[in-house]
Amino acid sequence: MHIDTTKITPHSDLWYFRFKKFNAEKYLITNDAWKFHFLSMSDFHNFISGNHTELDSYNELISKGFIKKSNYLEKMTWSVAQKNHFVWVGPTLHMIVVTLRCNHKCRYCHAAVAPMTAKEFDMTKETAKKVVDAIMYTNSPSLTIEFQWGEALVNYEVVQYIVEYASSRAMHLQKDLRFSLVSNLTLMTEEKLKWLFDNNVDICSSLDGDKISHNANRTGFQGDSFDTVTYWLKRVDEEKQKRWLWKIWALLTVTKQTLPRYKEIIDSYINLWLDGIFLRWLNPYGFAASDMETLAYDPDDWENFYKESLDYILELNKKWTPFKENITSIYLQKIFNAMDPSFMDIRSPSGIAIWWVAYNFDGKIYASDESRMLGRMWDDTFFMAEVTQSWSETYKNMMNSEILKIAVQASTLDGLPGYNDHVYKPYLWVDIIHNYKMSGSLYVPLVKDDKMKLQIAILDTIFEKLQNPDDAKILMSWIGR
Ligand code: SF4
Repeated sequence: MHIDTTKITPHSDLWYFRFKKFNAEKYLITNDAWKFHFLSMSDFHNFISGNHTELDSYNELISKGFIKKSNYLEKMTWSVAQKNHFVWVGPTLHMIVVTLRCNHKCRYCHAAVAPMTAKEFDMTKETAKKVVDAIMYTNSPSLTIEFQWGEALVNYEVVQYIVEYASSRAMHLQKDLRFSLVSNLTLMTEEKLKWLFDNNVDICSSLDGDKISHNANRTGFQGDSFDTVTYWLKRVDEEKQKRWLWKIWALLTVTKQTLPRYKEIIDSYINLWLDGIFLRWLNPYGFAASDMETLAYDPDDWENFYKESLDYILELNKKWTPFKENITSIYLQKIFNAMDPSFMDIRSPSGIAIWWVAYNFDGKIYASDESRMLGRMWDDTFFMAEVTQSWSETYKNMMNSEILKIAVQASTLDGLPGYNDHVYKPYLWVDIIHNYKMSGSLYVPLVKDDKMKLQIAILDTIFEKLQNPDDAKILMSWIGR
């Protein structure tokens, strides 16, 4: 059936909505309360023509806020506020680079690590103290300190110092504080493991799949990186289970070489008893930037890889192997949960600068980890401030920095042409650092935004899978429904 959109008349009882023709039979509509609904061609025609009462889903459309009824304003205000709960708090995720050194030199390393001999790239205790003071002064009652790449265990003494000092400050200030260590695990020892657990430091690692894929990416290590990391992944997981903690999770970075090996990669995660995988795409920072020809791929290639991987994971689930794809889970939570899952960058405005900041080894504060990676490439566009002796001055400098205001404005999808109109707008986010790196501008037309293409591919796939009751049941189980 052909819909003549010129015949659409404004109806005061329709709330603002976005739409797209999903397939030959259905239209998908969404609204700013992040609700979605599928309408057949004829129902969509009736919906936009004002014949709502003829729709079978009339009451459902009222409950989802597509059709206004008496109490709709209070209901939708509450719903929108709940979804955007994160806008009320200040910086919550604080990434600290205690060193740029690493005992690996991975082919794509986004941090462009320094060699083990280059001790001038270590954070000193004096800088660490200023960083912790700055973090504690921020206005969020709940804080996470994450130790990020280079390899934090290379400067373990400063990791310990930060954990002990920050814990005592947090207790004094009554702040909820968590720690997370992102490590390649190859410098782990039993003694360190015990200390980290005893001091409530959560641990996660990177695993680029099976032995062939992982070792192909993870070069520069004196030994077998895959064997070492998998040994420690199992040990950490064992220890977590003893202490009744969540399972360990690992991060995958997808390169061109790993695209065809999706089955081997997923199998290797399952053999390690991991319960999910992040199919993370490659970013154009650090060493990856100088080797894009060998490592990178088109968004279409990643889309195929994602679809094949998801099909394989769903098949495994049907054979009683519970396992999930974590990026899919994040979008499912955005679609179905009352509150945003608060994944730092996957939201609008993105977490960059305002909820998520990165402290470099030398005390320079950047708007995000990727901003700091650009800084390593001699581009300080996203530099916010330096840590100073006075934590209140540091915080004021961060909050008053121009880049914070620019980042919030540029990553807010409302009002961005193309993005704001897209049917998936409620679930999308824009990666301004990536766009800046690829085009030199924070504002990139949607059709030229590669990260947006990936998100649209994910959401198209999710909504398509939700049409199949067996697949939908599995997907919903990933978010506890
Ligand atoms: S990716 Fe991680 S393990 Fe590899 S060189 Fe960079 S910091 Fe080291």
